[in-house]
Amino acid sequence: MDGLHRMSRFAHKVPEARGLGMTSQRARDRLIERLVGEGIRDRRVLDVLRQLPRHLFIDEALATRAYEDTALPIGQGQTISQPYVVARMTELLLDQVVPRRVLEVGTGSGYQCAVLASLVDQVYTVERIDELLRNARRRFRKLGLSNIRSRHDDGRLGWPDEAPFDAIMVTAAGSDLEEALLAQLAPGGVLVAPVGPPGKQDLLRVRANADGGWQREIVAAVSFVPLLGGVA
Ligand code: SAH
Repeated sequence: MDGLHRMSRFAHKVPEARGLGMTSQRARDRLIERLVGEGIRDRRVLDVLRQLPRHLFIDEALATRAYEDTALPIGQGQTISQPYVVARMTELLLDQVVPRRVLEVGTGSGYQCAVLASLVDQVYTVERIDELLRNARRRFRKLGLSNIRSRHDDGRLGWPDEAPFDAIMVTAAGSDLEEALLAQLAPGGVLVAPVGPPGKQDLLRVRANADGGWQREIVAAVSFVPLLGGVA
């Protein structure tokens, strides 16, 4: 079925989700065409990005740029990831089996989290900047995304009480893979994370073997804000 011009399920619930002009369904459809051209293949991911109102995850002043394939500032020196990167990382996470319980580190605007919540049973997300987390929570409530639990903490520690996770996605770049996060991965689970200093980051995918070992692959060169310690 060609879902290209189907109305977003969010537009039924939230009038602003429909958007106008630069934030309209047409704008979302054009972004999807572009992502397909850039090699995103997973229909499930494309379908979610087609429906999710990215313009509600950024400041109103920037809303007209919401469906450009670019990262945008969300305050506190942080950014909402580029749609291509969100799509690619999500695709990497869903590649073999659809994970049931997913941990995200770096809630930021909440957009990536909302994408995940549209695809899996339960998402846990951790953000170190309180103000960003509050805004993200407001968006989750507004859009009726009820399968997200969030927490204000240093996400490098994961969420031990809820571990293990079928998948973990880190959306800020550390200097190395975090041991604490790897330890919270279920056997067969997948972690996707950018690693490395600014200007020299690799996107890594790590799969946890049943025997306790890990398989690691470098997927792409990427550019993320740094993974920082402590809370703010
Ligand atoms: N997934 C987000 C991307 C936001 S940018 C989105 O879709 O908008 C990365 C986010 O990671 C920032 O909000 C930053 O504050 C957060 N972050 C950085 N280090 C962190 C840490 N140790 N624990 C939790 N969040 C962290």
